[in-house]
Amino acid sequence: MMKKQLEAVCDRLRHHGFRTVVVADAAEAREAVLRLVAPGSTVGVGDSATLRQIGSIEALEEQGCAVVDLFSRRISELTNAKSISMEKRKNIARLAMHCDVFLTGTNVVTESGALVNIDGYGNRVAAMICGPKEVVVVAGRNKIVADVEAALVRLKSVIVPAHARTKWKNTPCAATDRCSDCDSPERLCGVTTIIERAPGYLDAAHVVLVDEDLGLGWDPSWPEDRIARILASYEAETWLKLGSRKPRDTAS
Ligand code: SF4
Repeated sequence: MMKKQLEAVCDRLRHHGFRTVVVADAAEAREAVLRLVAPGSTVGVGDSATLRQIGSIEALEEQGCAVVDLFSRRISELTNAKSISMEKRKNIARLAMHCDVFLTGTNVVTESGALVNIDGYGNRVAAMICGPKEVVVVAGRNKIVADVEAALVRLKSVIVPAHARTKWKNTPCAATDRCSDCDSPERLCGVTTIIERAPGYLDAAHVVLVDEDLGLGWDPSWPEDRIARILASYEAETWLKLGSRKPRDTAS
């Protein structure tokens, strides 16, 4: 995507009250985050491959921020081993919502200037709207779609199936890339949000748009090698070595 196109998306976001910046790559995105978050801040973190790929969480800790990350490697290991109670997880989620800054990725950014997201439990999307003083969202160019309608299609046909596969969830979409509005106990999509204006109870809502593919998200019409690179990068640059199945591996 040309920088000019990213600037056009930023213009729409700015028109909707967001503060925006376009950067070239992951390293510049990390620097942008460090400029936006004051040293010593408390920082809640949403579950985001993008944040891990740009190395922002470690960088913030190095500049003296207290990071609350429900999806850190340590807590995820405890969760997988069933060694941390649901009550404790809820308390960490509540803490993350009331930090100075909530740092997160986004599932989708629309060219029309909205952020569209889907969560299992809703803690990440809630914190993007109200709770912290400021929100900082980092999004790779691969997260951009035309409008809200396209975003909702992307969520259910790409984002949730991909997350289901990488997390080895046994949902119908993990096998078919299609949503059947399931009642699976492992269903990953409980709450969907469309943020069309910067939420009014935030002091500031920032969006860092990166001219690089980051996190999980693609259009199925893209060349297979680009999709493969997104998946490979996700696996290589995050600690989520979950042996993700590739799209449609399980479709037959
Ligand atoms: S409702 Fe079920 S099948 Fe549909 S996207 Fe969510 S988890 Fe997948």
